[in-house]
Amino acid sequence: MPRARILISACLIGEPVRYDGRARTLAQSIIAEWQAAGRLVPICPELVAGLGVPRPAAEISNHQTGSDVLAGAARVVTEGGIDVTELYMVGAAAAVAAARAGGCGFALLADGSPSCGSSFIYDGSFGRHRHLGIGVTTALLRANGIRVFADSDVDALAAAVK
Ligand code: SF4
Repeated sequence: MPRARILISACLIGEPVRYDGRARTLAQSIIAEWQAAGRLVPICPELVAGLGVPRPAAEISNHQTGSDVLAGAARVVTEGGIDVTELYMVGAAAAVAAARAGGCGFALLADGSPSCGSSFIYDGSFGRHRHLGIGVTTALLRANGIRVFADSDVDALAAAVK
């Protein structure tokens, strides 16, 4: 039986695609093992949506979440006040398409991001205030039945995909 494949935030495997032009590489050896076995499907939703690197930081406004964005009840806005909601929706849809094409039932995403956050995001004040919530890509992946794990939960993911 084929081993489960995992959609992964590209920044977690060393790709310098974050808004600040950096990566957020995970050090656990299991990540390299999955990668060598062809089990990882990397994507940066913001990059595939056409947002450049570097790009302005963005947050989901007014303490809301990616689920609110999908429902049309919240917006994703840059610190300069530019509404980038539609691009974040495009990125989320691309992630779902990549998961389907790659046969991924699981995803490992970088927490805190307005796209990839899965346990916390920032509250829209640009004051580095965290709150419980998920990003737009995580919300759409979960709505499509994909189990999303935060980068702090690699061990839990490893147990789930055995
Ligand atoms: Fe990483 Fe996701 Fe941000 Fe892209 S959108 S840099 S994959 S956290």
